[in-house]
Amino acid sequence: MTPFRYEKPADTAGAVEISRRAPAARYLAGGTNLVDLMRETIERPETLVDVSHLSGEIRDIDGGGLRIGAGVKNTAVAAHRSVRERYPLLTQAILSGASAQIRNMASVGGNIMQRTRCLYFYDDASRCNKREPGAGCDALQGFTRNHAILGGSASCVATHPSDMCVALAALDASVQLEGPRGARRSLNLTDLHRLPGNTPEIETGLQPGELITAVELHPNRFANRCSYRKVRDRASFAFALVSVAAALDLADDGSIREARLALGGVAHKPWRARTAEALLAGKQPAETQFRQAADAELSAARPLPHNAFKIELVKRVIVSSFVALAQRKEASA
Ligand SMILES: Cc1cc2nc3c(=O)[nH]c(=O)nc-3n(C[C@H](O)[C@H](O)[C@H](O)COP(=O)(O)OP(=O)(O)OC[C@H]3O[C@@H](n4cnc5c(N)ncnc54)[C@H](O)[C@@H]3O)c2cc1C
Ligand code: SF4
Repeated sequence: MTPFRYEKPADTAGAVEISRRAPAARYLAGGTNLVDLMRETIERPETLVDVSHLSGEIRDIDGGGLRIGAGVKNTAVAAHRSVRERYPLLTQAILSGASAQIRNMASVGGNIMQRTRCLYFYDDASRCNKREPGAGCDALQGFTRNHAILGGSASCVATHPSDMCVALAALDASVQLEGPRGARRSLNLTDLHRLPGNTPEIETGLQPGELITAVELHPNRFANRCSYRKVRDRASFAFALVSVAAALDLADDGSIREARLALGGVAHKPWRARTAEALLAGKQPAETQFRQAADAELSAARPLPHNAFKIELVKRVIVSSFVALAQRKEASA
């Protein structure tokens, strides 16, 4: 591990100020991803700015939404009564990830900002444009079972590994940011992560030194009909091959007032499936409609040599998720 300085600021403004003065700084939350990367010398920050004690509350906000501090641990988010009752999709997604021990350490901010699990990114004997811009990408000629089928580029085909973010994308969450000199702004979660294009090393829309302070959720109409399904090689402690966050809001006549759909394990960012959502609005919640919507969304898929199976797999998970949600009884949901 490369030597580094450690700072523990008193508040978020202090954290951002340290980061402004020391550009080769990284925020440290639970450390479950960053410290691993430092051990492998893939990340070499000169300064670690500890934010694990900051932004640690969950509270109601005006209009019926919920604000979740960036420092809240994943376990605490999943177990919080308001999250379980009003945003069960989020609880399901978080509990499908990692292990209990890691969720106890991992924070909301760190989960959003965690880096890809592409094996070639972790192996410094391999060429990787994300690790070393312009070096090339050994994944493209390598083993691509876990890589992207949507939105990839000739520079990078990595996927974003978070389960939590897939649920946040479906819930239309926004991410609250604090930058140098008190500048505050909000970004939709779906706009925060980027597709790789020619610059896979730029993974998010955060400006240098910007700190995530919270995630905000709107009031949720989908609490009775939502689900997170994750397909992986092992039943626990494994990243998604594909995952599906699905939610339905049905009108009084039984038609679909609104469908929400986000996919994990398929792209460099949590993939909000807006083509499928648009096709489902106003339709009857029938299996054929769900299949057509899934086919339309995945028509843009570009499989790699070892991951064509993901296309049919994710379509089937989309259809089975929506069929089960449509059949769910309102009262028992
Ligand atoms: C064995 C293993 C299995 C896993 N399985 C899964 C899984 O199945 N599903 C899943 O979703 N995840 C999984 N994970 C990943 C885990 O969820 C992440 O490591 C964790 O969420 C990162 O949170 P952290 O607080 O530890 O972040 P850290 O490791 O502290 O930081 C991660 C990154 O976020 C940045 N950061 C942290 N806080 C902020 C902030 N407030 N603002 C801006 N930047 C910030 C850091 O600078 C760093 O770049 C697994 C991890 C391991 C080790
Ligand atoms: S897919 Fe992306 S992260 Fe993986 S080796 Fe290629 S450039 Fe690096």
